[in-house]
Amino acid sequence: MARKIAAGNWKMNNYIVECVDFMGFLSKKRIPKDVDVILAVPYTLLGVSSTMTKESKISISAQNCHHQDKGAYTGEISASMVKRTGASYVLVGHSERREFNQEGNSLIRKKIKSALESDLKVIFCCGESLDIRKDKKHKSYVTKQIKKTILKLPKEAMENVIIAYEPIWAIGTGETATPKQAQKMHKHIRSIIEDKFGKEIAQNTSILYGGSVKPANAKELFSQEDVDGGLVGGASLDPTSFYQIIKSL
Ligand code: PEP
Repeated sequence: MARKIAAGNWKMNNYIVECVDFMGFLSKKRIPKDVDVILAVPYTLLGVSSTMTKESKISISAQNCHHQDKGAYTGEISASMVKRTGASYVLVGHSERREFNQEGNSLIRKKIKSALESDLKVIFCCGESLDIRKDKKHKSYVTKQIKKTILKLPKEAMENVIIAYEPIWAIGTGETATPKQAQKMHKHIRSIIEDKFGKEIAQNTSILYGGSVKPANAKELFSQEDVDGGLVGGASLDPTSFYQIIKSL
């Protein structure tokens, strides 16, 4: 069975004050036994949030890492550096990094490899633009994103990979995929994983939906058979909203 997961992505938001308040609030809350909670925070908050959540059910994620382990890459941070902050996950392939930092599938594959070698778990993001969906090419587009990246991993690596399907047209727009649209794509993604790695791995891989998840729509989205949780941007900045989303799982 795939784990149920509520993951938050703070993007380029929050300073230490908000972080301490947030982690303090959430670490006192009861989190259901079968739910994992992950927060992807800016690099500057990895250390403090990892320390604050050490004894809790909350895991900390970076939002990116470099694909090399060390060297002359001014301004970059490697997966092994992320690991040493106490974080245990890294987001890879988020559409904002694909768009604003020109990250393509081949670089994303290298980042995944580097993260796994550094003993980090990976939240791999994929998803299509509105034009691609209007052209009805969304299934083949997402298939290609997955084929060029995680399908190249060895079978045993999959236990450390979470997939987040995030249609770009639903990210930060207030527009959400319908539960039916999400389910259709999640089922398709699971079938791709099954074709390559077998039924057991496909059933155990958590596939999260991302794109304007909020307390009002979380329950219905999460009730879909192949939706194992959410990757939440905007609504993860408010601890009360994020906790309501956790409770929807
Ligand atoms: C995201 O950044 O991954 C995301 C899904 O954002 P939002 O929930 O704000 O659409």
